[in-house]
Amino acid sequence: MKLSRLRLYDFRNYKQLQLELDPGVNLIIGENAQGKTNLLEAVSYLSTGRSFRTAKTQELIRFGADFADLTADVFSQGREQSVRAVLFAGRRPRQLYLGGVKQKSAAKLPGVLTTVLFCPEDLLVLKGGSQPRRRLIDTALCQLRPGYANALAEYNRLLDSKSCILKDYREKTSLLKPLPEYNYRLAQVGAIVIAHRARYLEALGAAASSYHSAFSAGRENLTLQYHTVSTVEDPFADKKIIFEQILSHQEAHYRAELDSGQCLTGPHKDDFDALLDGIPVKAFGSQGQTRTAAISLKLAERELLRRDTGEEPVLLLDDVLSELDAARQDFVLNQITSGQVFITCCEVGRVTEIGKTFEIRAGGLVCT
Ligand code: ATP
Ligand code: MG
Repeated sequence: MKLSRLRLYDFRNYKQLQLELDPGVNLIIGENAQGKTNLLEAVSYLSTGRSFRTAKTQELIRFGADFADLTADVFSQGREQSVRAVLFAGRRPRQLYLGGVKQKSAAKLPGVLTTVLFCPEDLLVLKGGSQPRRRLIDTALCQLRPGYANALAEYNRLLDSKSCILKDYREKTSLLKPLPEYNYRLAQVGAIVIAHRARYLEALGAAASSYHSAFSAGRENLTLQYHTVSTVEDPFADKKIIFEQILSHQEAHYRAELDSGQCLTGPHKDDFDALLDGIPVKAFGSQGQTRTAAISLKLAERELLRRDTGEEPVLLLDDVLSELDAARQDFVLNQITSGQVFITCCEVGRVTEIGKTFEIRAGGLVCT
């Protein structure tokens, strides 16, 4: 999957831009606030039908303009295709086109252009609370496994209902009647969620480990460790066994859940640890190590998508070079040799030996 050309009209700070892209690395350099992230946002929009920075279409249209028009020529699914989005100021809905054919929704876009984005906020995945880590697994698995998406949606619906019961039962004790049924179904669907997550994390960890090793010149060993409901002894066990173990955990916590008014047990509390040579990145990782591990996870996510779909997603790396030493910067610029990559960077004067460099100034191309 490769973009050969990108055209933007009145998108963000771009009045008009046409880029002839490299099938390998595309290095976008420029000072702060020149439009580097805007460019990645445009590519990402064409692959998902939404912005990773805003839900307001108006913000994507150049100040004072009536509409924005974005087009990418892409080679994917064995042929040349084009993806286009026209965004309007005001209430008129945006229009999406694939090969000139108007689309009712964005559903078909990722099949033609898949992107994997790394933005500075992704560093929080390894440093902050557990929610972004669960989101990372869930987003990837929902894309790859429709069965997982259904199970997760059902789990979340059941969890919402159970939360309402636990919150309100003191005013109306009859609410407690269906609670055992909810627990039973939560354990059944929870077992499906856990089984998928364990397998995905195992594959993600193996792929991330080899990227991280290359990244750090073999000096660091990255591993991922899945944490789920404490009574689940083996998340790779038969789902029936996992189900029984979740159920017994729920029974043991029945009283505590009533007392606290909260759902205390289940895969909604799942987490994983990233370890470097056995030491948790969350507590001990340096800035560079954390960044390296987070990028390795993204590269691994892309690899698993490629293995599954046969197409290599386009990788969008926003501002990843800062805090990396020269060898690790070299890895990003010159050693991610598979597929197409976009890398933004502030340090003017950087070059990549395996691709093209574009310098951006005030929403325009300075040189190629
Ligand atoms: P940094 O290195 O700081 O991350 P950047 O090159 O990635 O900078 P962008 O975020 O791509 O910068 O662009 C930011 C610029 O785009 C800002 O100056 C902002 O005012 C401008 N901008 C954003 N939206 C619009 C819009 N709708 N119309 C015109 N300009 C806009
Ligand atoms: Mg930026």
